[in-house]
Amino acid sequence: MNLTLHLTENCNMDCSYCIREKCPKDMTEEVLFKACDLAFSRGQSAGLCFFGGEPLLKKDLIYKALDYCEAKSQQTGKRFSCKMTTNGTLLEEEFLERAVKADMGIGLSFDGKAQDVCRFYAGGGTTSSVVEKKAKLLLKYMPNATALATIAPQAVPYYAESVRYLHDLGFSKVSFVIAYGNRVNWTDDDLEALRGQLEMTASYLKELFIRKEHFFMSAINAKIRDCISGKNPAERCHLGVRQMPVTPDGDLYPCTSFIGDKNYLLGNVFEGINDKKVTEIARKASTPETCVNCDLVKRCTNSCGCSNRMNTGDENKVSPLQCTYERMLIEISDALGEELYQIDPERFAREFS
Ligand code: SF4
Ligand code: SF4
Repeated sequence: MNLTLHLTENCNMDCSYCIREKCPKDMTEEVLFKACDLAFSRGQSAGLCFFGGEPLLKKDLIYKALDYCEAKSQQTGKRFSCKMTTNGTLLEEEFLERAVKADMGIGLSFDGKAQDVCRFYAGGGTTSSVVEKKAKLLLKYMPNATALATIAPQAVPYYAESVRYLHDLGFSKVSFVIAYGNRVNWTDDDLEALRGQLEMTASYLKELFIRKEHFFMSAINAKIRDCISGKNPAERCHLGVRQMPVTPDGDLYPCTSFIGDKNYLLGNVFEGINDKKVTEIARKASTPETCVNCDLVKRCTNSCGCSNRMNTGDENKVSPLQCTYERMLIEISDALGEELYQIDPERFAREFS
């Protein structure tokens, strides 16, 4: 099974949109090893995602988990995979060498040209020059690493420029999401500006397609791919069935935004998973009532319980912000998809199916 390990609640950064309460609380080795055992206890493979706060503050725990799980994989014959999301400031060669050996997938949280608008060190200070250097280092070891950008309203003017910048740095995969939660406030003007930036981004993606350069920009490319393959993006949210977070104390929850709400506690690494509760919570992941009759219901992330909860306090209620954003994204992605298909149908089919 797949677990997301919150190795620490601490972070060396303080991003303006961050919804996590930072405190110096770290996972103990005892919880770590129990979590590894749990990951191997179900299914044919074990997957760990190292997460935080900032997981590289607890590099020692990552090394221990890798050694332990690799040995366990040999003993059990079960496949082990791992990934990590990091702000990148603490990346260094020694760690990357070990990560490459473990075939770790790394997602670098990096807002590109908007980095210094929203992402600061705890205690102040900009981070763009350090993270740019670390991004180059990461790409030297892992050319397929992903850059993960979170766009808050004040970062919107830098959106398209950031996509271009991250591509120029060498990323072949970038993921752009908009910031949700109570630390951001989107206005209609911000959303209109976002539309303009998404259109500029679509033009850039078209330019790359014509130049035959492979570049995957989620959100837009993912919308085109899901449309072609008939995948419903909302089905990726399974409220804990596929990827369960583990807190530093060893508690298990359906998704990061539910952490701390005892009504959603699914067990802990010492006593195991409460399967009845998992089934009960998974059943709650349904199409929101307001979306049932919408033409876009199968194209939209309306059932992402995590973001719905962050925005509306209810996992089955979509916020007007998300609805507007999804409509905008689908419209722009469809227009781009149509253009790319006209340019080169064969290449289009190869890239998106
Ligand atoms: S790096 Fe991540 S955990 Fe740390 S403050 Fe920024 S968003 Fe929050
Ligand atoms: S576009 Fe809006 S109404 Fe339609 S499915 Fe998405 S969130 Fe629901």
